[in-house]
Amino acid sequence: MLNVKGLCAGYGALKILKGIDIDIGPGDIVGLVGANGAGKTTLVRTLAGLLPVQGGEIRLGGKDITRIPPQRRGAFGLAVVLENRNLFGELTVRENLALAERNGRGRRQVFSLARIIDLFPAVGEKLNVRCDLLSGGQQQQVAIARALLLQPDVVVMDEPSTGLAPKVVKDILDVLSRLRVDGMSIILVEQNIAIASSATSRAYVMATGRVAHEIPEGGWAGFMADEKLVSAYLGQH
Ligand code: ATP
Repeated sequence: MLNVKGLCAGYGALKILKGIDIDIGPGDIVGLVGANGAGKTTLVRTLAGLLPVQGGEIRLGGKDITRIPPQRRGAFGLAVVLENRNLFGELTVRENLALAERNGRGRRQVFSLARIIDLFPAVGEKLNVRCDLLSGGQQQQVAIARALLLQPDVVVMDEPSTGLAPKVVKDILDVLSRLRVDGMSIILVEQNIAIASSATSRAYVMATGRVAHEIPEGGWAGFMADEKLVSAYLGQH
């Protein structure tokens, strides 16, 4: 589904990602973890097409999207929820969602507005509210809803739990687990390994712009029990 090979990218001449290899199949929910500054957000922004690629390639469903502009990646099946959520604050929830619905029209229709409201009741209650008047948790849910309305094959989410109350985080993670039945793949960037391990079945651990370690399917418990590994890669205990 999503195959990243030898990906190098950074800021100007600065090289941050130094040859990332990632493979994600249909229905995979994969974590991307790593300490501050490991390069997680840089990878998300590169997958989104917001940073120029210095080397390597990104393939989605077999198609090379390495140099496809960001606004056209949705048509190839990729949706990215950035950390700052990027909603149009002066537009209502309904208007933000309508823009995504329009962009997703050329694709197989999996998510209707009714289904989105079923997944996120809080979004349904705020349809006519301007996005900049929503709480952080509500904005995050709208941002995910908008990504789903692009009818993607792969969704990349950059730290959706940041700054949110535990109950909201739990609601969002519950939705992610319900999406698994649709065969959609998810990459969840998450610094908190308690959240990452409960929401994903395997993970890539990044350090200094590389995939330094892979946590295989069913390998979360073993990783978390290994204090040396956890503190080496994540600085957490
Ligand atoms: P965090 O969990 O703190 O968000 P991260 O794993 O997402 O960390 P990145 O934000 O990708 O890490 O940062 C990776 C490296 O790239 C860091 O050394 C950072 O200083 C550098 N970096 C990030 N943004 C820029 C920028 N706009 N210009 C130059 N360097 C940057």
